Amino acid sequence: MQKAKQILLFLLWLLFFVTFTSEFIKIVFELSPATGHKSLGMANAFFWSSLFMIELVMGAVVLYYIITYPSRRIRLISLSACHFTVILLLPVILDDWSWTCLLYPWPHSLQAFDPDTPQAALLISVIIGFAVVPFITWRWGAKAFCGYLCPHGAFFSETYGRVFTPRYRPSALIKKHLPRVYFIVMTVALVAILLMPDSVVPIRSVQKLVYFFTAEFFFFVVAVPLLGGRSYCTLICPLGYAVRLLVRTKRTLGKQLN
Ligand code: SF4
Repeated sequence: MQKAKQILLFLLWLLFFVTFTSEFIKIVFELSPATGHKSLGMANAFFWSSLFMIELVMGAVVLYYIITYPSRRIRLISLSACHFTVILLLPVILDDWSWTCLLYPWPHSLQAFDPDTPQAALLISVIIGFAVVPFITWRWGAKAFCGYLCPHGAFFSETYGRVFTPRYRPSALIKKHLPRVYFIVMTVALVAILLMPDSVVPIRSVQKLVYFFTAEFFFFVVAVPLLGGRSYCTLICPLGYAVRLLVRTKRTLGKQLN
């Protein structure tokens, strides 16, 4: 039984490894997921099929945890609704993957500011990033977005992250400094894009690469199996840093007012 479990875990990890390694190969050939369909047909078919397989497996994991862990049901249903709507349903229906930016707002990503992103998606993403996330965080704390809504770190930590047992503790030093530095870099990038709209393409090219290596390859292939499901959230995510900063600010203000 233990052996079968280990084989299943390995196969699951292998699926993520193969998927994101194929994405890396596409990046080496300068083919982003958004633009690559046309030029490298087979490579892209392989990547998108693997990604779709991941979504199917995650759907099965969600069902398993919903049935076996009643206490996690509400969180899982909410996260699955956000994840499968924004990552799959909306982009497929609208035939445009830039709609994933709705729940990947700044500072998590600059995707909303891509020239190809529809204006409606940009507007909704900006409203979510600059109004909805701060409001629900101020009202209900970090658990609002990072616990029940985020389709990335929260969803995968409650699914993929739950099947592994972390072997190492994340570095406290990195946890303290890296998210802050990343947040500052994303702030500078946003200001640069707003002041010089022509800079969006080169800035986005760099940001896509950084995002791939941190939020995808490192998170799924290395960090989740070794450091745990929340490793990206605590070690890197700039949006998680902004959320925690807001929570700390509210607490400090509360103390000063009492
Ligand atoms: S820290 Fe970042 S990735 Fe993690 S749940 Fe929050 S927003 Fe999502």
